[in-house]
Amino acid sequence: MNILFAASEAFPHVKTGGLGDVVHSLPLALNKQGDDVRLVLPAYRDVLASVDSLKELGYWDLPGIGVTHRAFILQAHLQNPEEYLYLIDVPALFDRAGNPYVNPQGFNWPDNAERFSVFSRAVAQLAKGIPGTDWVPDVIHSHDWQTGLVPAFLSMSYPRPKSVFTIHNLAYDGHFPYEVFASLTLPPEWWSSDLLEFHDGFSMLKSGMVFSDHITTVSPTYAKEISTPEFGYRFEGVLQHLGNKLSGILNGIDTEIWNPETDRHLTKNYKLDKNWQKNKLINKQDLLVKTGLQKTSAPLLGFIGRLVEQKGIDLIISMLPGLFEKTDIAVIILGSGNALFEEELRLLAEKYPTRLAVHICYSEELAHKIEAGCDMFLMPSRFEPCGLNQMYSLRYGTPPIVNFTGGLADTVINTTAKTIKNKTANGFVFDKVSVEALLSTVKRALKVYNKPEQWQQICETAMAQELGWETSAKKYQELYQK
Ligand code: ADP
Repeated sequence: MNILFAASEAFPHVKTGGLGDVVHSLPLALNKQGDDVRLVLPAYRDVLASVDSLKELGYWDLPGIGVTHRAFILQAHLQNPEEYLYLIDVPALFDRAGNPYVNPQGFNWPDNAERFSVFSRAVAQLAKGIPGTDWVPDVIHSHDWQTGLVPAFLSMSYPRPKSVFTIHNLAYDGHFPYEVFASLTLPPEWWSSDLLEFHDGFSMLKSGMVFSDHITTVSPTYAKEISTPEFGYRFEGVLQHLGNKLSGILNGIDTEIWNPETDRHLTKNYKLDKNWQKNKLINKQDLLVKTGLQKTSAPLLGFIGRLVEQKGIDLIISMLPGLFEKTDIAVIILGSGNALFEEELRLLAEKYPTRLAVHICYSEELAHKIEAGCDMFLMPSRFEPCGLNQMYSLRYGTPPIVNFTGGLADTVINTTAKTIKNKTANGFVFDKVSVEALLSTVKRALKVYNKPEQWQQICETAMAQELGWETSAKKYQELYQK
């Protein structure tokens, strides 16, 4: 089938989180299964710089706020001739430096509603085919609020491809006031509680939900959780209502990029053989030296991610002083986000310079080194639609310590006497979000770490786990065919 993916980010061109990884790796897996998946992104400045050459295929004049934008569609030339990337080029909206969603001060770009509504209008223009080619999509699969208007605009064309909409994180809902709705010249009948209207404004995420033919989210557990008030971010009613077209399909990972055997970022590559522990240790020692931490035989714990409450970074911050006082554990943290958490982490790193390394930045290379060099991976998320880092850490033999929620619950099996015995244990899970629960789980992990045979078994179970896209890509394929 011909599937058009529409998204606001995709590795390696532009990535701020898991969405970018999935929009890169799922099409590759689907193409391997025989589908023809092509991707369309906004032509951000960094994306334009990341591709070799561009061909203009056509343009449309599309309404923005108070102006009409000329939106060009460009075809990017990629090294792999089987991969197709199209860019929607509207310089006034996308040709700017830095992050796709926020300005250099960390605030949302003030014209985000206009930017992503124009992008979504352009994507909907592709319903009848990519200009200058004979390629026509059977399905348009859009992702998260930035493309939530795509199914809505598609509903206005006939005949039209089917639409699938994936929720990667319900907490980001693309919510804007009525004035924005009116200025975007959206059809007035869409201002209805059955359609886009949502809590004193309208939501582009809700638009994706109500107008799409099918909604997916990124893990089976999250699919259940989001229909409850605790996790539903006020959408629980909408999702209960739309429950018959909602399903949870677990994300996979790109097992080529995240492969300790070939990962070019590692000091020493390793694979699941009799030498893996020795080789992995070389990565740990190098990471300790490079980040200025003390050499230790105690575990090195890692964290990578956005520094926001969702990820439980506040729990880690509260836990660290006690952990440093009572154990020899060292910790390395890579991330950026909330300025308060960044500052608290900097202060802690000053206080414990040989025990805590804090890198407030975005670094693919360091992320790979942390997955390989650490002994355990911290991911105490309050909610986690799927989560990729725990899967990367499993693959790198770095057991994750996680809260029992969303995709974490679907991928990490708690270490207990029973799961040690039946050889399914691959990490450590707690089920109540608190500093105490996190701390006692780290201590529990430490005890197992000090039993080398058990530790080796857990790591090896983790490394052998199937984490690629094969199973889940088949589920998407079945869905598209249905
Ligand atoms: P989310 O999408 O909620 O941010 P995920 O765990 O699903 O969380 O995916 C996060 C992705 O972004 C992973 O690939 C992770 O390695 C990467 N990532 C997050 N923060 C950083 C950072 N500071 N440096 C490098 N990679 C990062």
